Amino acid sequence: MNEEFHDHQIRDVIKINYKYTMGGQSKFFIEVMNNKKLLGTKCAKCGKIWMPPRINCSDCYEPANWVEVKQTGTIEVSTIVWYTTSAFIKAIPYGIGYIKLDGTETALLQGIFSENLVPSKIKKGKRVRTVFNKEREGKMTDFFFVPEDEYNNWISKPEFEGGV
Ligand SMILES: [Zn+2]
Repeated sequence: MNEEFHDHQIRDVIKINYKYTMGGQSKFFIEVMNNKKLLGTKCAKCGKIWMPPRINCSDCYEPANWVEVKQTGTIEVSTIVWYTTSAFIKAIPYGIGYIKLDGTETALLQGIFSENLVPSKIKKGKRVRTVFNKEREGKMTDFFFVPEDEYNNWISKPEFEGGV
């Protein structure tokens, strides 16, 4: 008899209804939802533009103010996702990466979709542009990035649209 110990495991589902707040970051999500704008914050002292936005500058701890940022940027690092949660299972494979939007000094982690997803399409240095879902809920999943040369194709699909 095998004396090796094994955990006893039972597969189950937990369903929880809950509400959460975006707190001081709420303006970012409201602008995405209502106006298709991307907002970062600019430090009142050093002028650094944070994206994702931060209420205070992480370098000099001064207050940072809301500023609209460009919806084009450059991929800093990326990977292709093959395993994900049930919320995104229909989208695989898709890219995810850190995108440095033009004029900002930090990078935003976000999905990168492509009609022809191969590593070379989403590699470091590639230019991307923001596409928004037509139906937005004030969530990070309201928008994503696509390679710049695919932008017009994406925004011509009925479920998506371009930004401002
Ligand atoms: Zn600063």
